[in-house]
Amino acid sequence: MLPVLGVDADDTLWENEERFHEVEQRFRDLMVPWAGGDATDAALLAAERENISRHGYGIKGFVLSMVLTAVEISDGAIDARSLAGIVGWGHEMMAHPIELLDGVPEALDDLGATHRLLLITKGDLGDQMGKVDRSGLADRFWRIEVVPEKDVPTYRDVLDRHGVDPAEFTMVGNSVKSDVLPVLAIGGRAIHVPHTTTWAFEKPDPADLDGVDFPVVDRLTDVAALL
Ligand SMILES: [Mg+2]
Repeated sequence: MLPVLGVDADDTLWENEERFHEVEQRFRDLMVPWAGGDATDAALLAAERENISRHGYGIKGFVLSMVLTAVEISDGAIDARSLAGIVGWGHEMMAHPIELLDGVPEALDDLGATHRLLLITKGDLGDQMGKVDRSGLADRFWRIEVVPEKDVPTYRDVLDRHGVDPAEFTMVGNSVKSDVLPVLAIGGRAIHVPHTTTWAFEKPDPADLDGVDFPVVDRLTDVAALL
């Protein structure tokens, strides 16, 4: 049996943050009558932070946070059609074509020759499975897991359910907080493939990086050489 390699999806296999940034710019523009861009960004981030435990990660939660923020910033003056427009942005995001990162299909073919590939992505089940479908990459994976959070208990549970020993497991992804630190904490290996943009919520606490060491590569195509 081949060893198992965990692979993150958003911003490891395809562009994701960029989609959110495009819509955040539209939201800034919509709020111009009431607030500057920085104030809008700060209010939206605060709404997301406050509501993530209720909404979870994903487009629907993002849309609800924009609606709440628009009502708050405009002190109730925002019109109903603009609110419906925000919901429409979410619908667009859900159907947006997937933009694969450089060399991803070839890299997965290489990695899949030596490993069973386990896609582990967090967020809304519908959003995430929609992206997997539209990516055309689903067949390259041994198993696909959509989880609400990527933390120590989640990784333990996922590996346990698939009969994978953490000591023989490696995870690859763009987020130190979600793809690297929890996997190291359960005794696995992790390889960081940074992406150009990282969501504020994915920035690790600097104290968590003390004495922690892990390999960093530029692209997914560089991972095979490390395994
Ligand atoms: Mg990611």
